[in-house]
Amino acid sequence: MVLSRRVLLLNASYEALGTVDVARAVCLVWKRTAQMVEKDGARVLRSQHYVFEVPSVVRLVEYVDIRRRRNESGKQRLRIIMRDKMKCQYCGVRGTQFDLTLDHIMPRSRGGRSDAENLCAACKQCNQRKGDRTPDEARMPLLASPSALRYGLDKAMLRHYAESRPEWLPYLFLADKTEVA
Ligand SMILES: [Zn+2]
Repeated sequence: MVLSRRVLLLNASYEALGTVDVARAVCLVWKRTAQMVEKDGARVLRSQHYVFEVPSVVRLVEYVDIRRRRNESGKQRLRIIMRDKMKCQYCGVRGTQFDLTLDHIMPRSRGGRSDAENLCAACKQCNQRKGDRTPDEARMPLLASPSALRYGLDKAMLRHYAESRPEWLPYLFLADKTEVA
């Protein structure tokens, strides 16, 4: 079923932003908001009057600064918990999006920001125990380094899809290079 396929959405800089559904991707290309980068084989989407080539990868024509939008969106919490593989990043216990909390690695009271690099999934006990201390002060080392946390944010979402979409890999590797640098 063509409509259920995902399309990789790239920023104008070729940074992978995430995925959109086929209808949305075709609409973006139709409005010239995005350009087709890779076709999804010979798949087409037929409307009453038109036949659209189905994209596999599209790229926004204009650069969008999504960092701020991401932080504002209510999905940030779920994204971070998914990135952290549904595990408390201090004790490793598995949880769900409902019983895991988000911990500020550098406490907010000490100037820690509420962005993805400073947030991690934590069980309630660890979050409470750590309180207003840094991981060092609390002797609660993170299971993953903050840079690994940052690196993993989008990968967790994209890896799942990319397994069946080899044509996406060059774009995801490109994103890797810029993230690691
Ligand atoms: Zn814990």
